[in-house]
Amino acid sequence: MTTRSSVKKITSKKTVVKKLPTPAGNIILKSTIPKKTKTIRQTISPALPMLPAQTLTIKNISKRKTLRPEFHTKRQPLGHLLLEKKLRASGFRGAVSSNKDVLEKYSYDESIFSVRPQVVIQPKDTRDVETAVRLIAIETITFPALSLTPRAAGTGLSGGSLTDSVMLDVTKYMTHIGSYSSRTNTFTCGPGAMWRDVEKMLKRHDRYLPSYPASKDICSLGGAIANNSAGPDSLRFGHCAAWVESLEVTLFDGYTYTLAPLSFTDFEKLLKKDNAHATIAREVFSLLEKNEKMIADARPHTKKNSAGYALWDVLSTSVSEFKKGQGTFDLTRIISGSQGTIGIITSITMRTEPIAKDSQLIVVPIFDLMDASTIITRALKYDPRNIELFDGLTFDLALKNPAFFKDRLGKLEYYQVMLAMYTTYHVRYNRKTPEFFMLITLDKRAQAPAADIVKDLQAHQGKRARLVRNPMEVEMFWQIRRASYTLSKLQDLNKRPAAFLEDMTVPAKNLSKFFFAIKKLLKKYNVQAAVHGHGGDGHLHFYPLIDFTNKTTPQLIEKMSEEFFATAVKFDGNICGEHNDGIIRTPHLSKIFSKQILDLFIALEYICDPSDIFNPGKKVNPRFDVKTNLRQIN
Ligand SMILES: Cc1cc2nc3c(=O)[nH]c(=O)nc-3n(C[C@H](O)[C@H](O)[C@H](O)COP(=O)(O)OP(=O)(O)OC[C@H]3O[C@@H](n4cnc5c(N)ncnc54)[C@H](O)[C@@H]3O)c2cc1C
Repeated sequence: MTTRSSVKKITSKKTVVKKLPTPAGNIILKSTIPKKTKTIRQTISPALPMLPAQTLTIKNISKRKTLRPEFHTKRQPLGHLLLEKKLRASGFRGAVSSNKDVLEKYSYDESIFSVRPQVVIQPKDTRDVETAVRLIAIETITFPALSLTPRAAGTGLSGGSLTDSVMLDVTKYMTHIGSYSSRTNTFTCGPGAMWRDVEKMLKRHDRYLPSYPASKDICSLGGAIANNSAGPDSLRFGHCAAWVESLEVTLFDGYTYTLAPLSFTDFEKLLKKDNAHATIAREVFSLLEKNEKMIADARPHTKKNSAGYALWDVLSTSVSEFKKGQGTFDLTRIISGSQGTIGIITSITMRTEPIAKDSQLIVVPIFDLMDASTIITRALKYDPRNIELFDGLTFDLALKNPAFFKDRLGKLEYYQVMLAMYTTYHVRYNRKTPEFFMLITLDKRAQAPAADIVKDLQAHQGKRARLVRNPMEVEMFWQIRRASYTLSKLQDLNKRPAAFLEDMTVPAKNLSKFFFAIKKLLKKYNVQAAVHGHGGDGHLHFYPLIDFTNKTTPQLIEKMSEEFFATAVKFDGNICGEHNDGIIRTPHLSKIFSKQILDLFIALEYICDPSDIFNPGKKVNPRFDVKTNLRQIN
């Protein structure tokens, strides 16, 4: 907790217990209300207003905004008007703007939505974040439409960072990158630090962050953790959450706490404290204890997931084993992936991996889609670092748009990559583009020599599997894979590749059948989509080309979402592998989670954000209508 000392009148408290009925049983929320006032010394910031004690009481929770639908639909300028003045009076030192052009810029991310904030603030540091949280928590009592939505680089594909209230941008000032510690193999940075800058720093030490997303050149660390992003190497190394050592997070009381895995002894010590961290830890543990089996059963069957709150990952052992001193209780597991709905990350400490040396690439052209699952299942046995895919359409787009690569590569590299691309097409594949290209990366952990793996794949549906020895050809395949999303924009400039079905994932063994069904649906709706993804995880990204100026597009998006998501579920899949729920998937979470689990998510959000100030409408209680908030340009 930040330590600033002063003398302050506070009140002694009595505990109030309230039941929150859910179909999963009553959730008991303990809270404190003021009894009598006395003056004591405690740690507070002298410049900041204290939250009135009643802000955090059950009485206030019952007035919760989520229970008042009138504040969900209408834009409420009142309350935002004097915000800058009030922030300044509270000591906020960062930038504050309600300039038209600034608001316009922050109305978009990489999703299909457009929502205009009313104020954009750029905190200088943690203390500014605390000021903003406290002020909004106080002001929201009078102006319930006020809320605070963190935003980083704005590359999210689900609309997670969009808001109609106050946006808190961490990428202007909170970008500090600390040095790498070879003792702990960790580093610390601000939430607005860009992934590419962290990568550069780590490279000097031969280390990297293995959960890197394909957007690593344009996204931040804070956004990646809040989305619980993942990427190619997640096949072996998991999502960002798995690499978090600790997080500093500003919680609902406007104080910042260090969250990290706790042993039972440390957990018990924490519970003796009287602060937001202790309250959240106590109530979350109680939620896990009461619903242990239901939570374990609700874990999605796919290898990747960023849907909902990862309640199943908070305890590393069973409740009873934890109470006996085994395993850890780790709130970073639910902050990661929470899209800024339960607190604001102000500092990040992450673990790193050595950069893989001497990796090898096997490429398998797939001419019959039904072979894909067999090849993936076979390849997985050898512990590859990653198994990635892109389709023939993506390859053709690369062939037709050589200029696209000119800006991305040095002059010589550009000609070498182009030569490799044309040779592959004209000579190797005799001008017949395969349906898919599968890229399998091996490193020293591979369970057999590359040549033997190639032979095995050749004998099992991967007839034309081959070890790629020419480094420029390796580079060519990765250039196309990494550019797949951007290349898909070049299909038709009068349409836009739309991110709404792009994050479905199924168990790898079902991938061929699933994709066969998807292709049929794309045909039915008469839409084109280039496809790429993380084959080893059964995770396909595709962005149907859609004309957003067409009046029927909102209905089309709604109908397609229903049918495509149902298809993912039919193949034991998930609608949200790594891009998170945001505006687009929050209303569909009932397709993959039961009502009881959704109620637990609501209860969790309620415990962590009792005044409902953090990014309302995402993850739980959807409030942005998908159809009316679409960005209507191509
Ligand atoms: C071309 C392209 C490729 C992509 N590839 C991948 C991929 O391979 N894998 C993948 O997972 N994603 C991918 N994405 C999606 C996106 O880039 C990632 O999720 C990225 O990590 C988001 O980071 P950001 O800095 O842009 O976050 P933003 O979009 O700004 O924010 C993301 C979410 O985090 C919340 N947030 C931001 N800062 C904080 C904070 N300080 N505290 C709490 N919450 C916060 C926001 O409210 C929002 O809900 C891709 C996007 C594009 C455009």
